Amino acid sequence: MSTSQEKIIEVLENIDNSICDDCLSEKAAVFPRQQVNAIARNLQKRRIIYRGRGICSLCGKGKITNSKLMKYSIDGFISKELEHEKNHSRTEAAKKLDEIRRNIIDVFKIIDKGSTRLGKDKYESFSTRLSRLEEDGKIDRNIASIIRMINSFRNLVVYEDYQPDSDEFQLLQKAFLIIDKWCLKFNK
Ligand SMILES: [Zn+2]
Repeated sequence: MSTSQEKIIEVLENIDNSICDDCLSEKAAVFPRQQVNAIARNLQKRRIIYRGRGICSLCGKGKITNSKLMKYSIDGFISKELEHEKNHSRTEAAKKLDEIRRNIIDVFKIIDKGSTRLGKDKYESFSTRLSRLEEDGKIDRNIASIIRMINSFRNLVVYEDYQPDSDEFQLLQKAFLIIDKWCLKFNK
């Protein structure tokens, strides 16, 4: 996956409203803006994001704006994939990877209380946040390593149509167990 595409997706996943290509370019630090345009159009074609006329929630201008379409994209992807049994394991992996990533983000919120990271000018991606929490000693290094692996696989499966083979799937299942147990410590 290109780093630029990953940055763009991560910005849209962290913003609830739609934003224009100019603002997306700045937030994601992907330049020039034309590159953002090309990547966003490709993501729209693959039903990962939505693009359409609207008011940009950051600069307030009426333009073509972008917003995440994760839920619909994954649902659409799942119903489409169910027709093809051979891709069933990828569907399962995508569902589980996305679910566990959401649980991890919930735990991040609990151990990261009082953080100003959602301030308007400060954007932090999932992986940046993970590294910061690890450096602050709020997440143990072994757990951080496993979370990092899960997040990488999740991006590969969801955005690059990657299908883990059976060995990788078993490795992920073990990783899910470890992280599920870790998440449980934070949800009473
Ligand atoms: Zn804008």
